[in-house]
Amino acid sequence: MAEQKRDYYEILGVAKGASDAEIKKAYRKLAKEFHPDLHPGDKVAETKFKELNEAYGVLSDKEKRARYDQFGHAGVDPNFSPGGGGFGGFGDMGDIDLGDLFGSFFGGFGGGFGSGGRSRNGPQKGETLRTSVTISFEEAAFGCEKEVTVTRTETCDTCHGTGCAPGTTAEICSVCRGTGSVRIQRGGGGFSFSTTAPCSHCGGTGKIIHQPCKSCGGKGTIRRQKTLSVNIPAGIDNGQAVSLRGQGGAGKNGGPAGDLLIAVTVRPHAIFHREGTSVYMDQPVSFVQATMGAELEIPTIDGKVKYTMPEGTQPGTIFRLRGKGIPAVGGRGRGDQFVTVKVQVPTNLTRAQKEALSAFGVAMGEAQEENDPLKGFFDKHKKKK
Ligand SMILES: [Zn+2]
Ligand SMILES: [Zn+2]
Repeated sequence: MAEQKRDYYEILGVAKGASDAEIKKAYRKLAKEFHPDLHPGDKVAETKFKELNEAYGVLSDKEKRARYDQFGHAGVDPNFSPGGGGFGGFGDMGDIDLGDLFGSFFGGFGGGFGSGGRSRNGPQKGETLRTSVTISFEEAAFGCEKEVTVTRTETCDTCHGTGCAPGTTAEICSVCRGTGSVRIQRGGGGFSFSTTAPCSHCGGTGKIIHQPCKSCGGKGTIRRQKTLSVNIPAGIDNGQAVSLRGQGGAGKNGGPAGDLLIAVTVRPHAIFHREGTSVYMDQPVSFVQATMGAELEIPTIDGKVKYTMPEGTQPGTIFRLRGKGIPAVGGRGRGDQFVTVKVQVPTNLTRAQKEALSAFGVAMGEAQEENDPLKGFFDKHKKKK
């Protein structure tokens, strides 16, 4: 269980009945406040940011929010816990647009500095890349390592991102003085105002490259295919994502590289079905086994385990195998396996079998008189008439 987890509404600082817009607004405000790129090396900010993403992932999703309101953390089973390990798990990102988030606060920086207005060539975080992997039910339960191949922009090895041929340097654009943008006066008389536009002399880069790097043609980046190994944590569920920080596109002008988000699809299993950390399955038993009890061998994700089914087990009985479910991400124990007894009615009986069953029926007849729950009902019914 996850008792020590903080309340999602409390994390976002909103009331229980907050509207979607209020939740989004609160999230964006706090995400900017705690973003790890603004607090390099600050573990507290990093943890808060993860906590925030988890809370928002649930509260921004109608269905998950409803389940959370009703059942608390257990209802949404947030497998991506804060402090889950080396990689930052964002869980189900929903419709959070990281690109938008980064764009808005880097833009904010540009506007705040200097008198030339918004800088067009300030640091920019690289592109967020998305890919997916499909894994088996067991791989999701126990974790696995997978390879993914992405095509991304990488910083050019030859010029280290400057775009200049080795031994040469770029010249700061004399028109925009390196800002990449120019001021344009519009209007006239008392209504004159100025706006900014990209500098046409340098193409908005703020620099003039006289001898472009031959490897990248002066762009400073190269498109390249890269195969990466991804550690998928034990307990991950279908539809969740793993984030590899800094494995997305190269940043621009000294900005950090983007992230790579890997959506995980879990293939359904032939006999097991999963809800959070619980595993469900149907166990067929014969009519004789249900009646007389039996020593069963039940399949689990760990292999077969013995279970003594008591005599007189009714169809649809559910028994629980503790700790045989899915491990919780982050190592907080394991769920249970729930087994539903499915009694098989025998078909295609031989003559001898039918006779034995008839004899059994006759023998049951006398006992049935005593035990029939409907007997009293019919008796009363008769009396009324
Ligand atoms: Zn280059
Ligand atoms: Zn320029």
